[in-house]
Amino acid sequence: MKEKDMSCPDGHGKMKVTRTHEKMKFRGVDIDVPAEQYVCPVCGIKAGTIEQTSAIQKAISNAYRKATHLLTGTDIIEGRKKLNLTQAALAKHMNVGIASIKRWESGLIQSKSMDQSLRIALRGQTLGDICTGNQEFSIPRIKLVLKQFESVLGKTILKKNDKMLFAAKYLWYADMLAHRELGESMTGSTYAALPYGPQLNNYRDLIDDIVKADESKAKPLSPEEKKVINRIAMKFHKEQMIYDAAHKEPIWKKQPKGAIIPYSDSCELAEI
Ligand SMILES: [Zn+2]
Repeated sequence: MKEKDMSCPDGHGKMKVTRTHEKMKFRGVDIDVPAEQYVCPVCGIKAGTIEQTSAIQKAISNAYRKATHLLTGTDIIEGRKKLNLTQAALAKHMNVGIASIKRWESGLIQSKSMDQSLRIALRGQTLGDICTGNQEFSIPRIKLVLKQFESVLGKTILKKNDKMLFAAKYLWYADMLAHRELGESMTGSTYAALPYGPQLNNYRDLIDDIVKADESKAKPLSPEEKKVINRIAMKFHKEQMIYDAAHKEPIWKKQPKGAIIPYSDSCELAEI
């Protein structure tokens, strides 16, 4: 910053540019803000130029965001540049206006949910990857995975008039664990956090098609995928076990009811 001359309003002559750390409370959070101001060496009075004052505003916002685990303006700018995205491109990616990106980068504090969207976008992921686990959605494959579970478990898990209470949990574990271990889900299904556990999103509209689907039309399961299914079936060989385990998973618990459970959370599976 260019140094200008600033004189003490109490007539002590030239003030000196001083870098300090100001401790303060902002929105109830204790923060430590680096600040550059003019200070009078005689009486200690402080004053700032317009540029210094706006730099302090920005520093307050960044210190607050750091303390509350939100991305800072610098994080957003650096993350965006790493991906070679313009502010307009990032805005489009996130379905927000470019003004929002500009404001967050220059100091406006984003909401927690916008922070999550920013993190997803800055990882270079689209909402599709998060919802489908990098796999094309396939109903025959859902049937194939369920059939594989049935052959390993030696019992029927997809029943007529099924609400998929158990079948959906076997599927969910298969998709999530495959995403964690193999980098992509098995069926491309999207899951919602419902009160009775993780469930296929819109399962009511899918159930008939799943029951009728021809699993021979699905891409065959790879040996690695079969291993994932075996592992789940061995660990949760009774339906009640998979039901209980799903209800202990933090990645289901932390979602508001009805929200999508993102595949990016698969690394936090706790029960397997
Ligand atoms: Zn003075």
